[in-house]
Amino acid sequence: MRIDLHAHSNASDGTDSPAELVAAAVAAGLDVVALTDHDTVAGHAEAARAVHALPDGARLTVVPGAELSCVVDGVSMHLLAYLFDPEEPRFAAERELVRTDRFRRGRAIVERCRELGADVSWEQVQRIAGAGSVGRPHIASALVEAGVVATVSDAFTAEWLANGGRADVRKHETDPIEAVRLVRAAGGVPVFAHPGAVKRGRTVPDGVIAELAAAGLAALEVDHTDHDEETRARLRGLAGELGLLVTGSSDYHGTRKTVRLGEHTTDPAVYEALLAQATGAKPIER
Ligand code: AMP
Ligand code: FE
Ligand code: FE
Ligand code: ZN
Repeated sequence: MRIDLHAHSNASDGTDSPAELVAAAVAAGLDVVALTDHDTVAGHAEAARAVHALPDGARLTVVPGAELSCVVDGVSMHLLAYLFDPEEPRFAAERELVRTDRFRRGRAIVERCRELGADVSWEQVQRIAGAGSVGRPHIASALVEAGVVATVSDAFTAEWLANGGRADVRKHETDPIEAVRLVRAAGGVPVFAHPGAVKRGRTVPDGVIAELAAAGLAALEVDHTDHDEETRARLRGLAGELGLLVTGSSDYHGTRKTVRLGEHTTDPAVYEALLAQATGAKPIER
């Protein structure tokens, strides 16, 4: 079983449509892929249609999910949520709040980029983002188009879009304790995404991770491209101490990042344990 529990479509900042993501997951030899767009479930329906339309012989399970933008003591962090009821009103309202504020903030970042001499526009960013939940990677793509930087990741520096960078503007983000409770109340399973991704900025201290565990966190995403071996070992130890499961996943973003689908995977026994905790939705199978 090859299980990848973190992937983005163009419903947020990935470049594959949900149907293309399903096809890419089959081609990558995955058995299970989770669709975890930032702050939105907009890709779920198309992914489900694509799974149901797979040809005979092709098999794939899609785990419907999302990746929630959170902040604690000024440190941004991402919370993966799996198999929650997308209709549960309190959690749906919180996702909508974050998603909507992404538009205000996207415009503000574009304005900052223009003040700093980059010839980018909101119309251009909207064209790049399409119907998707708009974010800094779309603006990074606009900066690449404008010839300001060479690659998307080159835009995530202090000069431009990195946390606290010259053109960074904060968006509304949820308190992670509140987010863990919202996910659980919607029958979902919360997992801390890339908790040791230092290249993205400050990370959350272990004390807060302990509080999240007490509030209902299920797992830490340990095997992730942004973690070196030492970080993985440390996080594995922490998960053991706190009674948390350990996942691995690619955080695939199509061509917007270099990581490949299935580059990191989750142990089947861990996947089963996560499924056993979910009551809000079922995996999508053919
Ligand atoms: P936003 O959700 O709009 O705040 O943008 C955050 C997203 O930007 C993350 O989900 C990543 O996809 C991307 N990102 C953050 N840091 C980096 C980085 N250093 N290099 C490339 N992409 C990044
Ligand atoms: Fe992203
Ligand atoms: Fe993330
Ligand atoms: Zn992600």
